[in-house]
Amino acid sequence: MRDEDKSKEELMQELIELRAQVLEMRILANEHRKAQEVLQSAKSELEQHTREIAILSEMGELLQSCLTTNEAYTVIDHTAQQLFPDESGALSVLNDTRDLVEMVVAWGEEAVGERLFSPGDCWALRRGQLYDFKPGSSGLICKHVGEPHPSSYMCMPLMAQGETLGILHLRSNSPSVLLESKMQLAMSVAEHMALALANLKLRESLRSQAIRDPLTGLFNRRYMEESLDRELKRAKRKQVQVGMIMIDIDHFKKFNDSYGHAAGDYLLRELGVFLNSLIRGEDIASRYGGEEFIIILPEASREETMQRAEQIRRDVKNLNLSNHFQAQDPMTLSVGVAIYPQHGGDAENILRAVDAALYQAKREGRDHVAIAAEPNP
Ligand code: GH3
Ligand code: MG
Ligand code: MG
Repeated sequence: MRDEDKSKEELMQELIELRAQVLEMRILANEHRKAQEVLQSAKSELEQHTREIAILSEMGELLQSCLTTNEAYTVIDHTAQQLFPDESGALSVLNDTRDLVEMVVAWGEEAVGERLFSPGDCWALRRGQLYDFKPGSSGLICKHVGEPHPSSYMCMPLMAQGETLGILHLRSNSPSVLLESKMQLAMSVAEHMALALANLKLRESLRSQAIRDPLTGLFNRRYMEESLDRELKRAKRKQVQVGMIMIDIDHFKKFNDSYGHAAGDYLLRELGVFLNSLIRGEDIASRYGGEEFIIILPEASREETMQRAEQIRRDVKNLNLSNHFQAQDPMTLSVGVAIYPQHGGDAENILRAVDAALYQAKREGRDHVAIAAEPNP
């Protein structure tokens, strides 16, 4: 039938049907577009997730190969910027005495609060669990977060082997709010970091136990002997000198007898701190045994070594020992000095020379510095 032959009603009916079809098509197209959007967003979320997993696993591998906590902090700094590009954050760790938290890594554009704070200033550390602050939540803000307050933040305690090591802090750059997915990611990151830091801490403490004297914190005799060999070889190659100082506390037995062994230990500890404060970074201060100490001074001349020895002998009298011992005469030291290669060409001979010099200082009345005798030509 031609259009002209159709009745008005029939034409109207067709028009309505056509309109309905167009509407249906529009709805379908709209649904298609929406479905595509959902798919696209799921796809980019998946891609983002895959990228994050790759970064996370690379961080895990890098952390495994770190030898010191400082190396680990560098890895964490680098990774955190990649994982949380839109957030600011920080890693803060508890010190050995567990009374101070120190920020060791920070990233992002915003300031991330206090660099040093007490563990009580963080709700996550207080409660030993994640603290998540967002608008409308409890309203309690950790003190370490600082001003201006972020619109939302989280603190995640780093726990490993039953010990809390610090916190991972993450805040959103205002005015957005931290996404749930970011919090999940932060939890995985915190787990990785905690495990790696706990391992490194254990390794560092084992290493320190192997080379340090536990009472004074100075290097032990074995480490000193190894270092002496190494330093003498280096000095020979570079044609430079090495200074040696040997120290012995005068009449220490009498001190022990008068004040007790614990007081004697206290004195040794204080002397350790004192010696450490007087040496240069490259010097090696060690407890050689009992109340005897040896300091190796790489590349120090005879004059420099003598000056240092004299300074130690003189300044030890100013040590502010506890009131307990003030009735006593100040602690005095006898000090021997020897120089490589002048007084000995190898470890054995230089040790013999410095020991003889110390013995000489004792003979000359104690509280005295003596230098090794020139070897016979
Ligand atoms: P001198 O002036 O001749 O060196 O006399 P001295 O009494 O210091 O020397 P001596 O070698 O007779 O005595 C050393 C004392 O050091 C004896 C020992 O009890 C004490 N001593 C060694 N190691 C320690 C320690 O770890 N703690 C304490 N409290 N005393 C120690
Ligand atoms: Mg002695
Ligand atoms: Mg002595």
